[in-house]
Amino acid sequence: MYLTVTQTVAMDCYDVVRQLWDYLDGELTDESMDAIRAHLAQCKQCYPQFDFERTFLEALAATRREHPAPNMVRRKVLAKLRKAGLEV
Ligand SMILES: [Zn+2]
Repeated sequence: MYLTVTQTVAMDCYDVVRQLWDYLDGELTDESMDAIRAHLAQCKQCYPQFDFERTFLEALAATRREHPAPNMVRRKVLAKLRKAGLEV
């Protein structure tokens, strides 16, 4: 197995930060994705910014998972109450 080591990344911090959201959404070309990933791996300036935005997106996704449609919750609660013998 032979691994090609990526040489100095031709991307500066401005470019990376500007494309960070697109990077997190996976909406860039493979080349850009690789370039940004490589930059983040070695740049102490950009990484905290990336980490913050990633955490933010993850929190958003978690909130969506934990709060399903209100109707579903209502139906579940009603079903439980009926099961318990209540007239609802
Ligand atoms: Zn940077």
